Amino acid sequence: CGIVGYVGPQSALEVVMAGLKRLEYRGYDSAGVAVLADGGLAAAKKAGKLINLEKELDGRPLPTGTTGIGHTRWATHGGPTDSNAHPHLDNAGRVAVVHNGIIENFALLRAELEERGHALGSETDTEVVAHLLAEEFSSCADLAEAMRLVCRRLEGAFTLVAVHADEPDVVVGARRNSPLVVGVGEGEAFLASDVAAFIAHTRSAIELGQDQVVELRRDGVTVTGFDGRSADVRSYHVDWDASA
Ligand code: GLU
Repeated sequence: CGIVGYVGPQSALEVVMAGLKRLEYRGYDSAGVAVLADGGLAAAKKAGKLINLEKELDGRPLPTGTTGIGHTRWATHGGPTDSNAHPHLDNAGRVAVVHNGIIENFALLRAELEERGHALGSETDTEVVAHLLAEEFSSCADLAEAMRLVCRRLEGAFTLVAVHADEPDVVVGARRNSPLVVGVGEGEAFLASDVAAFIAHTRSAIELGQDQVVELRRDGVTVTGFDGRSADVRSYHVDWDASA
């Protein structure tokens, strides 16, 4: 339902949680976050309102990191439980993904992954993406390229945002028939399903086009098509009216 991603000098957890709060008005049934820190990936997720996630984080704080993603879920596949909440991780716990929309061909992809030895722990359509990204990353060592390769195999409408512990200063997003907006700041960058999530930080935005992948780094963003061709980027200024 709501998605936020961040890379920059600030605490990613704080930026992401504040962004998720700005998206609460959309309604949701669970929430979760993942941050990259100390060479690894740490995540927390909880059914219910953001306050439940905040309590979870109070009891089990995540290490401080400056790259992170967050999600508020509106369940379509699998009930609103802790384990179905996003982010979803691969078996090694190195990649985390959040997703809005529906992966129509997830059952087939899931069966293929299980045949190859992956253990899937949720009932969501989303989880296959974490496992597929991990597989592709293991051969190309490039999260944006892994995302392009995975997206070409997905059917349906989706916004996907992912991080990988082996690329600690990168957030990657992708979209097909589902919104995703990039916010470009000074030495930092944001991704969200709605500009409301980041206008407190920057008003310079880029609307991602259909079937495009964006790679966020502190010093800028790169946009390509699912086919790998570089794409034109049109940035615009978000005025107050647009954020109301
Ligand atoms: N289809 C996904 C799920 O049920 C994503 C739902 C959403 O858009 O929040 O987990």
